[in-house]
Amino acid sequence: MRKNRIAGRIALRYTADMKSLTIIAMPTSHAQKVRSLLHDEFGNELAPEISDGSGPCRHCLRYASAGDPLLLFSYRPFDKSAPYQEIGPVFIHANGCPRFPSDGGFPEDFSRRPLILRPYDASDKIHDSQVFAEAGGAESAALALLADPAVAYVHARSSTRGCFMFRIERAGAGTS
Ligand SMILES: [Zn+2]
Repeated sequence: MRKNRIAGRIALRYTADMKSLTIIAMPTSHAQKVRSLLHDEFGNELAPEISDGSGPCRHCLRYASAGDPLLLFSYRPFDKSAPYQEIGPVFIHANGCPRFPSDGGFPEDFSRRPLILRPYDASDKIHDSQVFAEAGGAESAALALLADPAVAYVHARSSTRGCFMFRIERAGAGTS
């Protein structure tokens, strides 16, 4: 793990291409569990709703097309429990979709939109360097945040509502 992190930092220093970032969408196991149980971990019963052409899916990291059935539920986007965590609303496609690949570069549907980038340290505490990235600027802003060794990972969040979209790590950080 430590070796991978150091390698990631070295790679960051010398390259600024898309492979310097690992993009972590909602795990397929979680999406499948919600789809099959039709309730979330927080007591909400779920029913598919039809998208009007909005609603970013946190599993395939694409915006829904008009007519797509979506599930809206509450999600805690962290691996383990810690105080600096928020539970918030997310959409996924109700009928299944391929998970966005972690080495797929910055997701196209989000690269053209403004995003809040919220950094966390290795203890899952929010780091003070949160930024608002203008449309087209989120990828380079995420790279800049991750150049700070105190930042372990970054959440991409909605610029208007603050909702979690996906997690960003240095390439080679080793988390799936
Ligand atoms: Zn999807």
